[in-house]
Amino acid sequence: MSGAPDMFTLSDDQIAIRDMARDFATAEIAPNAVAWDEAKHFPVETLRAAAALGMGGIYVREDVGGSGLSRLDAALIFEALATGCPGTAAYLSIHNMATWMIDRFGSDDQRARWVPQLATMACLASYGLTEPGAGSDAAALKTRAVRDGDHYIVDGQKQFISGAGASDIHVVMVRTGGDGPKGISTLVIPADTPGLSFGANEKKMGWNVQPTRAVIFEGVRVPVANRLGAEGEGFKIAMAGLDGGRLNIGACSLGGAQAALDKTLAYMRERKAFGQRLDAFQALQFRLADMATELEVARTFLWRAAAALDAKAPDATKLCAMAKRVATDTGFTVANDALQLHGGYGYLADYGIEKIVRDLRVHQILEGTNEIMRLIVARTLIG
Ligand SMILES: Cc1cc2nc3c(=O)[nH]c(=O)nc-3n(C[C@H](O)[C@H](O)[C@H](O)COP(=O)(O)OP(=O)(O)OC[C@H]3O[C@@H](n4cnc5c(N)ncnc54)[C@H](O)[C@@H]3O)c2cc1C
Repeated sequence: MSGAPDMFTLSDDQIAIRDMARDFATAEIAPNAVAWDEAKHFPVETLRAAAALGMGGIYVREDVGGSGLSRLDAALIFEALATGCPGTAAYLSIHNMATWMIDRFGSDDQRARWVPQLATMACLASYGLTEPGAGSDAAALKTRAVRDGDHYIVDGQKQFISGAGASDIHVVMVRTGGDGPKGISTLVIPADTPGLSFGANEKKMGWNVQPTRAVIFEGVRVPVANRLGAEGEGFKIAMAGLDGGRLNIGACSLGGAQAALDKTLAYMRERKAFGQRLDAFQALQFRLADMATELEVARTFLWRAAAALDAKAPDATKLCAMAKRVATDTGFTVANDALQLHGGYGYLADYGIEKIVRDLRVHQILEGTNEIMRLIVARTLIG
């Protein structure tokens, strides 16, 4: 399926996909989200249940088990799932991004070898770009892969890798050539390869439902046959993955914020102050109106960027960067406003609002910080 011809009206199929994901989030994710966060539980079985409904390889081709859906469909799915738990939806987004990279840039052999198990989530994927000394400036990465016959020997460290320690397959950007983006290649490295180890699970503000670890490579032998694309194409592959990743993470922010707004509407109907319901104060009504409006603005624009990526429009990268910035900033602000409107109760874990705020905060930082999103947009303006 591709983007709807009229991008402001969802097709019947798209409404069905969104409702399926929303029902799954309501039944399987939302009731557990606060407990998973508290226990730092990574809900792998729930992710596999989502994959059984086609959400493990959403925009991956069908011949290898993917669902063959569009980026707009994916945005609908991630927003719907994130109403249950942004952190769970966001890991699924990273898994989908890494799986798509293998489907898009892998040979037929590579696609047949890895994608079917990733689409069912029998195997989980991680995406390894960031290093201790190279975050925003990812093209400065230093993890080295030196050719040794029909293998590479990989040495270095990746930092902040989502899913690491639990995932089975790492899609890793390594340096096979000289400095800069053109010296980078992409390798698919199974997590159980000798010489690959993990740092401790990071203690984080949010996203506690998924592990984040350093991944350490010490003399890791990786077959040359595990390289995606040609030597030197790795940075391009990594950035192509992120165009869609940014849409997905933006959609996760919209879903989290929408859930916070919905909880707030219900709360304000019940809660009284100064002898009236909170939702009877006009100042607060206007606040709610602004929250709903800002969310709809961000959502509409995210759909536009998704449609551009589906159409392979020349300005798709710029639009995805714009959409990521707008959706993640708006999502965080709306969720934080929802916390404020809950008064002291918003600050308590039981109400589920503070978790959403904590989860959404990191969306302004990862998949390229929102400063880097501005850099991408500014480059297109200034050159
Ligand atoms: C929970 C979590 C999960 C993550 N998961 C993954 C993952 O799965 N895989 C992965 O590869 N990475 C992952 N990351 C890493 C994430 O993408 C990086 O943290 C992010 O890109 C920023 O890099 P940095 O932390 O090194 O910050 P820095 O690059 O050091 O930036 C510090 C500050 O300077 C700003 N800045 C830097 N350069 C510029 C500039 N040129 N102009 C203006 N401002 C600038 C930044 O915006 C930021 O505010 C994750 C991070 C977190 C926190």
